[in-house]
Amino acid sequence: MSDTVPQGLVRQSGVVLRRDAGPEGNVSLYLLLKGIGPVWVSAPGAGRGRIRFGGGMEPLSWGNFNLYKGTRRFYLKSVDVKEDFWSLRSSPEKLRALLEWDRLLCLHLVPGLPCDELAALFYWSSILVRDGADPQTVEWRFLRKWLDLWGLAPSLTCCLSCGKPLGDAVWNAEGLNCPECARRSGGSRLADGQRKLLVSAAECPFDEVKRLFPFPGNDREFWKDGCKRMKEFFGFLK
Ligand SMILES: [Zn+2]
Repeated sequence: MSDTVPQGLVRQSGVVLRRDAGPEGNVSLYLLLKGIGPVWVSAPGAGRGRIRFGGGMEPLSWGNFNLYKGTRRFYLKSVDVKEDFWSLRSSPEKLRALLEWDRLLCLHLVPGLPCDELAALFYWSSILVRDGADPQTVEWRFLRKWLDLWGLAPSLTCCLSCGKPLGDAVWNAEGLNCPECARRSGGSRLADGQRKLLVSAAECPFDEVKRLFPFPGNDREFWKDGCKRMKEFFGFLK
């Protein structure tokens, strides 16, 4: 864990990724903190009196966390919640998207390794979903940008085998091939228009996402397939 953080009081902004309730009302929170990265934080007895920390201990709650760093671990003193994305809880599809990103962050982030850019991406992607952009399309955008930050994103504009600019393309496990190269490798077809849609969703400015990809109104299965393919690229880490 974060042995670089000196003992004493720590105040840092971040988000709750996970909440584990132990026996006797003890709660452990897995927080993603600015400048610190993911860390486990203990809140002894917090499960008995929910009022003490309010909604600040639920996953997807963003705020300023006041912590005490002991010799071995962090303890939660208080939370000032800034955004809990509570409004999303009435929309299963929106909530499902955010919880899925949360799950992937828990799975892939390295404890104690700061990742502020990715945390910001998580926050702003959640804001897009909250404000009416299509959850599945935003998920595609989130995964693309994440893979890009980690240098794992496959090209959407050039053939992975010959490097030629792509029009119509073919998906395989490593990325996109031109139809010519795909004659050997096979895969599933991605028409030029669809490919451009994927590029646009990943790269258009933040302010344009809601207008271009409103919810509802997008082909859920198309975006879901794209997301599934992107998630497989995290497998290359192992
Ligand atoms: Zn090619």
